[in-house]
Amino acid sequence: MTTRPDFAAAVGQTPLLRLRFASEATGCEILARAEFMNPGGSVKDRTALGLLLDAEQRGALRPGGTIVEGTAGNTGIGLALLGASRGYRTIIVMPATQSREKIDALRVTGAEVRLVPAVPYKDPGHYAHQARALAIAMNEADPGSAWFADQFDNTANRDWHEATTGPQIWEETGGAVDGFVCACGTGGTLAGVGRALKARKGSVTIALADPAGSALASYVNTGELVASGNSISEGIGSSRITANFDGAPIDLAWSIPDDESVPLALRLLHEEGWCVGGSSGVNVAGAIRLARALGPGHTIVTVLCDAGTRYQAKLFNPAFLRSKDLPVPQWLARAFPA
Ligand code: PMP
Repeated sequence: MTTRPDFAAAVGQTPLLRLRFASEATGCEILARAEFMNPGGSVKDRTALGLLLDAEQRGALRPGGTIVEGTAGNTGIGLALLGASRGYRTIIVMPATQSREKIDALRVTGAEVRLVPAVPYKDPGHYAHQARALAIAMNEADPGSAWFADQFDNTANRDWHEATTGPQIWEETGGAVDGFVCACGTGGTLAGVGRALKARKGSVTIALADPAGSALASYVNTGELVASGNSISEGIGSSRITANFDGAPIDLAWSIPDDESVPLALRLLHEEGWCVGGSSGVNVAGAIRLARALGPGHTIVTVLCDAGTRYQAKLFNPAFLRSKDLPVPQWLARAFPA
């Protein structure tokens, strides 16, 4: 009998998929970790577990204590579900612009959800600052009662990916991986996997697929944080260098427009059965660009971060897509006639 004793033990047990269309179009093997198959539905279950185990080990989170985090949604879902399985209360501070599906998913986890206006990071009202301030206030009132997970600048996030996701990719490709590419929110996935793979094979190429509206591709290419355009994707892109992103071993970076990434996300569903969110579309676009940069015959790995159902009302809504000047495939227009 093979069993998993609890939620934590089910995190990260995700298959490595071969993406048919992307592989055939490039002559490379394009593989993707199905992170939407995590128990909380996203790659951020891994981050949540890494941060939580580190806090437990350091004694930063006491039994029955409260987890406090600022999140675009997925990390909060992972933390709240882990919290439920380990006896912690969870408070999540989240920008009100995030998808209704993610906000509802968080509410049903039992987490207390505090929606705040979406403002730039330099504004003290930014959700990450509000979460930190809340944890500080709780600890002033009752010392040791709250733990601020701090996914952006707590490098236990990156370290967990370096210790688990990276080695898993290495082992499951039998060391054949030539390149890894993904978008960055905190940067934990790219930095952690990048470090793990570079340590095992110095020639591996690590690439950033950055959504329009983010300043990270410009930072990698020019050293300047400059952003232009915008994107319907959620959970990725950044206007600043987080501690997790800082020093990540990135060789190549591209800014990916939505009219490249969204059609790929829709195509993955319609032609291969993988229902994934917008950041996965950005990642697959990045994998195709990396395949073209390396040439045929290479093995490239990326991540399918979460499920498309988390963005149903936007990504699979012809009226929404048209309002953003994005193409609507015929099958989707037929499924939802105007
Ligand atoms: N995709 C989605 C849907 C996410 O929620 C996130 C994290 N916010 C990412 C990608 C980026 O992952 P990371 O934080 O490890 O850079």
